[in-house]
Amino acid sequence: MNFEPVIGLEVHAQLLTDTKIFCGCSTKFGAEPNSHTCPVCLGMPGVLPVLNKKVVDFLLKMAMATNCQINRESSFARKNYFYPDLPKGYQISQYAEPPVEHGWIEIETEGGKKRIGITRIHMEEDAGKLIHDENSPVSYVDLNRTGVPLIEIVGDPDLRSAEEAAAYLRRIHEILVYLEICDGNMEEGSFRCDANISLRPVGQKEFGTRTELKNMNSFRNVQRALEYELKRQQYLLESGGVVVQETRLWDDAAGVTKAMRSKEEAHDYRYFPEPDLVPIVVDDEWQDEIRRALPELPLEKRERFSSEYQLSAYDAGVLTQSRALADYFEEVARLSGQPKAAANWVTGDILRFLNDEKKTVGECPVAPANLAAMISLIQAGTISGKMAKDISEAMYKTGGTPEEIIREKGLVQITDGDALTAALSEILAKNPDQVAQYQSGKEKLFGFFVGQAMKATGGKANPRMLNDLLQKMLAKH
Ligand SMILES: [Zn+2]
Repeated sequence: MNFEPVIGLEVHAQLLTDTKIFCGCSTKFGAEPNSHTCPVCLGMPGVLPVLNKKVVDFLLKMAMATNCQINRESSFARKNYFYPDLPKGYQISQYAEPPVEHGWIEIETEGGKKRIGITRIHMEEDAGKLIHDENSPVSYVDLNRTGVPLIEIVGDPDLRSAEEAAAYLRRIHEILVYLEICDGNMEEGSFRCDANISLRPVGQKEFGTRTELKNMNSFRNVQRALEYELKRQQYLLESGGVVVQETRLWDDAAGVTKAMRSKEEAHDYRYFPEPDLVPIVVDDEWQDEIRRALPELPLEKRERFSSEYQLSAYDAGVLTQSRALADYFEEVARLSGQPKAAANWVTGDILRFLNDEKKTVGECPVAPANLAAMISLIQAGTISGKMAKDISEAMYKTGGTPEEIIREKGLVQITDGDALTAALSEILAKNPDQVAQYQSGKEKLFGFFVGQAMKATGGKANPRMLNDLLQKMLAKH
């Protein structure tokens, strides 16, 4: 029997606000344990939460970027469960009245573009962190993270393969980072993903029994975990077994998913309205304000780069990986007036240098103005493309301007016709046999003469000029 995967992802994104969602404590990562706490986020009795407006601003940005419907009014709810890193015994989240819902994003699949639905996005507070000491029977609680704002992006079960799921996750990640509302760091847990996954016979409408996958902390892990789980479920179904509804953890080292808890033990959260917080009302004015400040999104940027600069879809994709890289490219394109060449240099040498040193474009020693100046020098014929390779490398090492490097290395191209003619005459005189062979039809030898001339001039001959001259001289020789 042929099975079809049905996958839906839930993404938790930690928001880049300076302070927590319901108190004024700092959200900075890596501080001394329990130093960023106050009675509110410690869950002391009798304290009152106050909503941080920035959190709603960020939620609205994400809602607009994912084509969601924004509800004028929404409310908070208490999600009750007992956990050592949750001192209140409940988490403030949103449940019955989500602030935004029914959105979608587009992903690229083998079969072209595909729209993936977003069920809802809501706000909630994060819980603390338990630290287990391997050498002693003691666990520690760090409540610095308690009350750090999160948005949960619940996707529709529209994904039909592990690749599609990975593509969807990358798009969500890219949008969050572009909006500058989440740093997207998966290792530090500021971008987390759970997956619901099931199989059904092709053609069947109803979903099969699903499992929930947790603990996937990289894009690669997500894809591997889903691929493994699909195979596991398929094997079960084909051998006459049944899939049990349960939560499973991805074990990266073993490369398998493992049962964590079954449905019977699953929590009953007994949601009820949070009595200490008033409903959130998002009026048109607030929405307009956010919409006006919305940056150009990656997909729009990609399409604009393709049409405005005539770049290939691939180059446009590479250049819009991050806002900083896209800005860098546009600056080089603008200053040099040559977007194609700018794209080639940025996606080629510049990215290679940066990747080799694991640096971001923000740390790039080559200023856009310097790269643009170099591109203009190639266009003017002052330097050859081959020289430019050396110059770009030197610019990356020293941060210097191309003019400085050209001066230091004596790299200016020879465009003096007399000097080139003299060099060529000497080469032709030295190689009479090759000249005769060329003239009797062995045209491949042209490259030999070019090579000799380049050698004689230390690679500084202007190639176009050299070719012209050589052709003329060989013709009348
Ligand atoms: Zn606090």
